[in-house]
Amino acid sequence: MTPAASGALALAAQVRAGERSAASVLEESLAAIRGRDPELHCFNALADAHARERADEVDRLVASGTDPGPLAGVPVALKDNICTRSAPTTCSSRILAGWTPPYDATVVSRLAAAGAVVVGKTNLDEFAMGSSTENSATGPTRNPWDTGRVPGGSSGGSAAAVAAGMVPVALGSDTGGSIRQPAALCGVVGVKPTYGVVSRYGLVAFASSLDQIGPLATTVAEAAAVLEAIAGHDDRDSTSLEQAAPRCSEVLDDGARGLRVGVVADFLADASPDCTGAVRAAADVLAGHGASVEEVALPELLHGLSAYYLIAPAEASSNLARYDGVRYGLRVDAPDVETMNGRTRAAGFGPEVKRRVMLGTYVLSAGYYDAYYAQAQRVRTLVARAFARAYAGVDVLLAPTTPSVAFPLGSKTSDPLEMYLADLFTIPSNLAGHPAMSVPFALGEGGMPVGVQVLAPALGERAMFRAAAVVESGADPRARGPVPARGAR
Ligand code: GLN
Repeated sequence: MTPAASGALALAAQVRAGERSAASVLEESLAAIRGRDPELHCFNALADAHARERADEVDRLVASGTDPGPLAGVPVALKDNICTRSAPTTCSSRILAGWTPPYDATVVSRLAAAGAVVVGKTNLDEFAMGSSTENSATGPTRNPWDTGRVPGGSSGGSAAAVAAGMVPVALGSDTGGSIRQPAALCGVVGVKPTYGVVSRYGLVAFASSLDQIGPLATTVAEAAAVLEAIAGHDDRDSTSLEQAAPRCSEVLDDGARGLRVGVVADFLADASPDCTGAVRAAADVLAGHGASVEEVALPELLHGLSAYYLIAPAEASSNLARYDGVRYGLRVDAPDVETMNGRTRAAGFGPEVKRRVMLGTYVLSAGYYDAYYAQAQRVRTLVARAFARAYAGVDVLLAPTTPSVAFPLGSKTSDPLEMYLADLFTIPSNLAGHPAMSVPFALGEGGMPVGVQVLAPALGERAMFRAAAVVESGADPRARGPVPARGAR
């Protein structure tokens, strides 16, 4: 069995009890990566030497009678936009090639404090801009369920690594859906926490008012355990919330009795029959466990996508100004500084990143700011108000995570708008700063997994996890990774 097949919590329990060494768990994970990564390309880099040192340290703690923490010896993969001293951080961009940060992100130190072992850095759409992991300078990641299909994005490497059983858990980042969408397409659980619950210190900024780090795992309980390890106030992120992080593990057995669930009616018309059917079936599971279920009309949410594709590029155009050929990674030499800046950026950024920087600069420029950027901010407020109206009557909302199952590689790369539509149902939660998660629920077209999304108001993680655990209990177990390698299926 690969480490992921045993489950992060079972592994940690065995390591803490001295029944298994963290070193042997790590070697199994590295062997699984060596076995499948040449085909899937989940990883940009491994941190194996550092991981072996860390695993030995965990084993020494156990031997000396000290508890290494709740994630003792659990191998974790990190999206390659999370800064690590132990391995380069490239954001799958040529402009950062070879750059190793001089510091660790807060989530990295927190994982270490919980006893986890970081094994490597996973592939993503360049700077997290995309929905398929095809916008990567290191080449696409493939979906372990069907290698002709995308894993989703932008945290596609993390989702596929968990789905392929290389690691039991991983971290991704979610600006408009980049944890939940690949989680749904790969048959794993993916959580975007409330904005401010997880520190962004050391997360390479894409759109700072939307970015959040969160876990990917095979079960709701494991996702809760990882979230608890990384969440909580951090002085080094000024947007980090002061209050203690929500304790989600405590509520997983609470059931759905008394829970008020709303189904986002407006999303159902825009999803494929397998995705819509999964939402309706998940609603029935919740009702069967004593929840009250009603449909809610939230037409404003469908305008989130247009607002997002003005706000996110605007913030990105500012955040990405720092890649000037001086401070990080790539430099293309030229006779003067301005030409050097221009040539470095022309050579270092891929086409989608360039499109976003140009779009963002345009919508922020004098004369267009009010018509585009300011208007988008008004729509953002409308989305938040619509959610507030719904949450006056329900505790959580249920929706499809994606409009369809994983699509074939190359099928949307020539049409950016088609690609953007993959995030129609995930973006509103980012605009509002709310938590949302995807739970694998059923098998759909082509035998591919279908995820159901549970949304909650700000800091509503406990209600969200409670509902997610009930949804999971009624899910088709075949819809959940890890998926055996082809031939073994
Ligand atoms: N797919 C969306 C985009 O391209 C969301 C990306 C993300 O959440 N990082 O912007």
